[in-house]
Amino acid sequence: MECPRCGGAMTDGILMGSGKTTGVSWMTKEYRMKHAFVPLTPKAREEAQMVSFKLGELNTHMADVFWICRKCGIVMAELPRLKEGVGDE
Ligand SMILES: [Zn+2]
Repeated sequence: MECPRCGGAMTDGILMGSGKTTGVSWMTKEYRMKHAFVPLTPKAREEAQMVSFKLGELNTHMADVFWICRKCGIVMAELPRLKEGVGDE
């Protein structure tokens, strides 16, 4: 995925956390596949390239993959549940 603003490569990752408690954090897919838990130490957070979303800033369905461009501050998400004409809701 390319960033729509700068054209640079975006990093694919996932969201973890709870909107009711500490908020939601983004981290790389690579980190998530290697570790069972959310990174807790500064070193682990660095490895995961973790980005925290403050409570209230994020209001969306959980998606499988979120792409991020840290240079531009852009996060893109694929939200299958928002597709029209899919499923029987
Ligand atoms: Zn960018």
